[in-house]
Amino acid sequence: MEHAGKHALVTGGGTGIGKGIAVALAEAGAEVTITGRRADTLAEVAALHPRLHALVMDVDDETSVRDGIAKAAAARGPVQICVANAGIAENSPFETTTLDTWRRTMSTNLDGVFLTFQAAMATLGPQDNGRMIVISSIAGVRGLKNAIPYTVTKHAVIGLIRGLSEEFMRRPITFNALCPGYVDTAIVRNQLLGLMRRFGVDEQGAIDMIAKGNRHRRLLEVDETTGAAMWLCSDAARSVNGQTIQISGGQV
Ligand code: NDP
Repeated sequence: MEHAGKHALVTGGGTGIGKGIAVALAEAGAEVTITGRRADTLAEVAALHPRLHALVMDVDDETSVRDGIAKAAAARGPVQICVANAGIAENSPFETTTLDTWRRTMSTNLDGVFLTFQAAMATLGPQDNGRMIVISSIAGVRGLKNAIPYTVTKHAVIGLIRGLSEEFMRRPITFNALCPGYVDTAIVRNQLLGLMRRFGVDEQGAIDMIAKGNRHRRLLEVDETTGAAMWLCSDAARSVNGQTIQISGGQV
């Protein structure tokens, strides 16, 4: 119960990586606000634990984020743990990537993190401890072909946490990024379908294609990102600040 009495907020907490972290934080005692655009998905996850609280919030919409986080803080206190996890991934070659795709990806994966962190930090007093975590990607530390907007946003959020770790040096808040390789969630399942269609391979063939950079030749499981996030939230990680942690089976 290390996090008893704390309020945590996880964007995209109704599915995949965010859901894993949200449930673990609730089990560790935190009151956890989980956000996303789908009320039904959030309600199903909130039913899993009495300390999980659903909040419909679209990170593409400034008012939705600012009002949503202020409302959650009014109900459950300052957001001492904030996991900016909501994100989208669209694949296309650079030449055919549209400006719409570029802007949509920037809006969700970059502007959404900026707004989430700013609104969450506005709930903290000068002495409050804080853990700000962004879910970047292995695409935040290396190039990923056919996913240029995604790669750019995942690099950019690393710049964000590095800058914030300098700007808030005197405050007891840490800013870190997790950089997973391919994790078995909806985002990756969608990519597998695309590969199966494009290359005429079965599901295992598609998994083999995207997992070939992982030295263990497999997709990561959600509990692996959960474990890293829980460590960053722990007291033991209080001096880990401005860092990127790769969880990728050694993929470089
Ligand atoms: P999911 O598709 O399961 O999760 C994405 C989440 O983001 C959903 O819960 C979705 O909720 C939410 N979301 C998307 N757009 C918005 C929006 N505009 N406003 C609010 N919420 C939004 O996939 P993952 O769990 O895999 O992805 C989580 C994060 O992890 C993403 O940032 C992704 O880039 C990153 N990541 C994933 C990897 C992987 O291999 N799976 C690898 C590296 C990083 P809803 O649709 O209800 O709004």
